[in-house]
This record gives sequence, structure tokens and C-alpha cells, in this order.
Amino acid sequence: MAFELPNLPYEYDALEPNIDAQTMEIHHSKHHAGYTSKLNGAVEGTDMEGKSIEDLLKNHSDKTAVRNNGGGFYNHNLFWEVMSPNGGGQPSGELADAINDAYGSFDKFKEEFSSAAAGRFGSGWAWLCVHSGGKVEICSSPNQDNPLMPGVGCGGFPILGLDVWEHAYYLKYQNKRPDYIANFFNVINWDKVAELYAANK
Ligand code: MN
Repeated sequence: MAFELPNLPYEYDALEPNIDAQTMEIHHSKHHAGYTSKLNGAVEGTDMEGKSIEDLLKNHSDKTAVRNNGGGFYNHNLFWEVMSPNGGGQPSGELADAINDAYGSFDKFKEEFSSAAAGRFGSGWAWLCVHSGGKVEICSSPNQDNPLMPGVGCGGFPILGLDVWEHAYYLKYQNKRPDYIANFFNVINWDKVAELYAANK
């Protein structure tokens, strides 16, 4: 069973003006599609065929094609899900409590997450992860690496991811990555992040 490019849970222009439609279309239909097909090519005919994407990231990231394309496949699956045209605002409930426990306040969390995203040199991702027991932690990773891979980031389970590759923002924001990061907060789907928190804490 080959990996399949998921449909976006909204239209390409749904996140305007925070993320423009052209960027969304190229990002999903070219970049994410490319990672998906190359991942299939990397596992086809090997003993990795049929393994779950989580298994591949955890146990087979020593193979470069699996690391780059499996990471790209998984990371973008998460990215689309944690954004929504009805997003923004702040989390509530136990996720809000965990963020406050770790960072003192939502504003302080936002500052630290933004700093992790802005400070990632070159291409990569910023993450909010949950550790077993419920503690949350911010980290970042290069390229298409993911905290599920051994030795990457904080080693927790990613519940929020922000793509800071230039392909994610350059058409609209050019060199102004901090503006893209600030506007990402307008579209975060905290309900989805809370669902991932509850399922993986
Ligand atoms: Mn991307």
C-alpha cells in the first residue's frame, strides 16, 4: 500500500491573507507530492515496503532517501492539519495548562516558538512536542528531519509543526521570515493540536 498525498482539509486560498493561495498550491501539489512519490520510490521493493510512516521515521532514518522524503511526507501531513481558516487564538484546557507549566504564559510560549522558527538557519522546522507524561517542549530541526527520528530535536511527539523552508513563504514574504511566523499564529488549529496532545501525552 503506497503512501498517498492527502487532500488539504480546506481550499488553497483558505488561509489568505496569512498564507497565499499560490504558495499553498505549489507547496501541496508539487513539494508535498514530490516527497510522497520519492518516499514510495525509496521503499518499493525493499523490506521497508508496507511499514508505517512512523516506523520508517523511528527505525529507518539512517537511509537518506527515507529520511528526507519520509520526513517531508510526514511533516507536511501534520502541517496542513494544524492550520485552519478558523484558526488562531489560544489553546484551552489541558494543552493550555501544559504550555503554561512549561513556559509560564501563552505569550512567552509564542515568543520562544517564534524564536526557534526564526533562528533555524537555512531550511527546517519548528516544533511543539509532547513527552510521555504530558510535558510539552519546543524544538527545531534541519531539513525534513522530525523529532520522531533518533537524535533529532527534543525527542518528543510532534503536535505542532511550522515549515520554515523558503518554499513555504518566499512568494509572499520574501526574506521576512519573522512576518510569516507571526501570521502563522493567526491560522493555528489549536483544536487539532489539543487532539494530538491528548492522544500522545
Ligand atoms: Mn514544505
